[in-house]
This record gives sequence, structure tokens and C-alpha cells, in this order.
Amino acid sequence: MAQITSEIVTECLKTIKGPDLEGDLVSRGMVSPIMIDDGKVIFSITVPSSRTEELEPMRLAAQKAVMALDGVTSAMVVFTAEREAGSEPAPRPTPPPSAQPSKGRQVNSSAPVPGIKSIIAVASGKGGVGKSTTSVNLAIALAKLGQKVGILDADIYGPSMPRLMGIKDQPTVNGKILTPLEGHGVKVMSMGFLVDEDTPMIWRGPMVISALTQMLREVEWGELDVLVVDMPPGTGDAQLTMSQQVPLAGAVIVSTPQDIALIDARKGLNMFRKVDVPILGLIENMSTFICPKCGEHSHIFGHGGARDEAERVGVPFLGEIPLHMDIRLNSDGGTPIVSSSPDGAHAKVYLQIAQSVIDKLDGAGFADTAPSITFE
Ligand code: ADP
Repeated sequence: MAQITSEIVTECLKTIKGPDLEGDLVSRGMVSPIMIDDGKVIFSITVPSSRTEELEPMRLAAQKAVMALDGVTSAMVVFTAEREAGSEPAPRPTPPPSAQPSKGRQVNSSAPVPGIKSIIAVASGKGGVGKSTTSVNLAIALAKLGQKVGILDADIYGPSMPRLMGIKDQPTVNGKILTPLEGHGVKVMSMGFLVDEDTPMIWRGPMVISALTQMLREVEWGELDVLVVDMPPGTGDAQLTMSQQVPLAGAVIVSTPQDIALIDARKGLNMFRKVDVPILGLIENMSTFICPKCGEHSHIFGHGGARDEAERVGVPFLGEIPLHMDIRLNSDGGTPIVSSSPDGAHAKVYLQIAQSVIDKLDGAGFADTAPSITFE
């Protein structure tokens, strides 16, 4: 088979007409850098977010044309949406019925990933509760406790790992598989390394699964004790499908005091229960506000709700992380607090949580095994 190159793919894409039949995809500057991995071709086409449905035939035409090239074994073509100035991010689509689990079926597509002992999901009922911040600090804390750790950013709609981990490089391709990047002692793989973080991606359901599967199974993770999967926020079908596709040893739910009282965190718990994934516990994030000037503790969003709720629904409570400027500044600056102030009070909380997670993974004896996932 001929060796496929990005030049050949680019030439091919010059034959695909742009929107409104004007010019072609390449001359209109709509095509991202093209990644080629042993015959697999991955690139994105940037379109206005309001036109993704209408331009779907164009995406399919590009994919079909690339698939037909000699030496191409698969082509993954996704839309990235141009965000119009001042507009809301593109809506997050849910997978079509074909990508959704059907009820009453025993699904066991989650074969273990060789070399990885335990995979844990960090999830939240909704966005903005600090799930990704918790994922990175938990992962770094696990590494500080001597574990070999990786993070998989499964939040492919809004990948934030490159920023949170302060990694700007691109993964390299080694033979058939991608080599993950490394930061703060943790291996990292994120869709954000392959596409611009600020460009929201428009994913078709089956692609979500194929992207996730590739990031999980076609990445040279090596030997890991724990792989932390930063899940996309929410508890919809996309999340449910993901919890099915990844052989999870357990899940950690992140919640803020105000939403634990509401339904969001409970939905998260129920989602994992549905797919028979053990809940390792609940973390209350942005719990107490500690005034950086006077040190006074205030419970802006109420307090203790997560602990009570965890007790009520019978899941372990893993700890409270305060709402603190240093956590935010370090998280958003690519120097997570557990790494930048490993001896500080905040790091201590994450380290305690990480230790509980290790104890639970060891104690429960589900390391090394993939749970069988059953739908009611
Ligand atoms: P999610 O992944 O749930 O969308 P992020 O981890 O991106 O949430 O966090 C949202 C924002 O809140 C970020 O700016 C982050 O720095 C900040 N944040 C998260 N946890 C804390 C905390 N405990 N204290 C202060 N800021 C926090």
C-alpha cells in the first residue's frame, strides 16, 4: 500500500467545494493541520457554528474522498465551529440513536487496557463545578503518592488539559500509536493537543466513541497504576456511552455545595450505578471560602451538603476542597496547586483524597479487572 502523506490529503481536499460552492476547502483555509497515523487520517474543517447541519454533506464528501485515497485505512473528519464574536459556544450534540446504549442489553465492550491497572472516571452532574481542576490535582496527588498515573481528557467538547497541565506540545506518533505528553509527573492525552482548545468541536456521536477509544487504546500509556479519565460534564447519553466504553474501576463525583442539594450530583451517581461502575466517592469542591486576607472561613454556598448527601445515598465521602484563589490561579495557569505548593494546606486535602482512592482501589480488589457492565 502506498504511503499516505498530508500533501496527498491536501491535494485531495482541493477537489472538495467549499460552502455555497465557492472555492475549495483548502483555498478557503478551512482545513486544520492534517494528522496521519499509520494510514489513519485525522483533521478538522472549520465552519460557522450555525451551519454545521447544513454543511454535513460537505464533511461527508471530504471524508469519503480521503477514505478513497490509496494508503488510507480510516479517516476521521470533524467540524470545528467558528465561534462568532460574542456568541455562545456551539451546542453540544447528543449521539444519534446508533451510538446510544440500548436497554436490557449486556454490554461488555470494555476490555481491559493492557498495562493499565485501574481506570477511574472523574465526573460531575454539570459543568463549572471544578471537575477538571479536581482531576488534575487528584492525578498529581496520586503520582506524589508513588503511583504511575495518566490523565485522559475525555471532555472532548471542551478539552482543558493542555491549559491546566501547562502543556503546549503536540503528541508524537510512534509506529501505530500516539505517545502521550507528560506534565507534573503525569502522562496526559487530550483532544486539545490535536485541535485548538478555543475552537469548540462539533462531534457526531459515533466519532465521540471512536475518538475516545483511540485516546484510550491507541496511546502508548505504558505501565500505569491509575488512569484518571476527566469525563465531559453532565449525565446524558454521551456520558453514559462513555462510561460503558471505558473499563472503569470506579468513579469519583465532583460537586459544589449548591448543586449537591439539587439533583445534578445524584444524577451522576445514578448514571454510574446504571452501568454498574462502583462509586469511589463524592468530593465537595468550592466548599469553604477562606479569605486570603484575614483567613476567615465562610460558607458561601452552604456547607456539608455533600457529606450529608453521600451518607444518605450510601457512598463514601472523599473530602472537601475549599474555594480558594490559589487553586484557581494555579489551575488556570498550568501549575496545579498540588504540584506548585505540594506542602500547602490545599495539596494536603487532595493528597488525602488520593490516598482514599488508592485504598479503595486496593481494598475493593477490582484493580486489574474490568467490571462487567449490565444494563437494567
Ligand atoms: P469543570 O471541569 O467542572 O468545568 P473547571 O475545573 O474547569 O470546572 O473549573 C472551573 C473554574 O473554577 C476554573 O476557573 C477553576 O480554576 C475554578 N476552580 C475549580 N475549583 C476551584 C476551587 N476549589 N477554588 C477556586 N477555584 C476553583
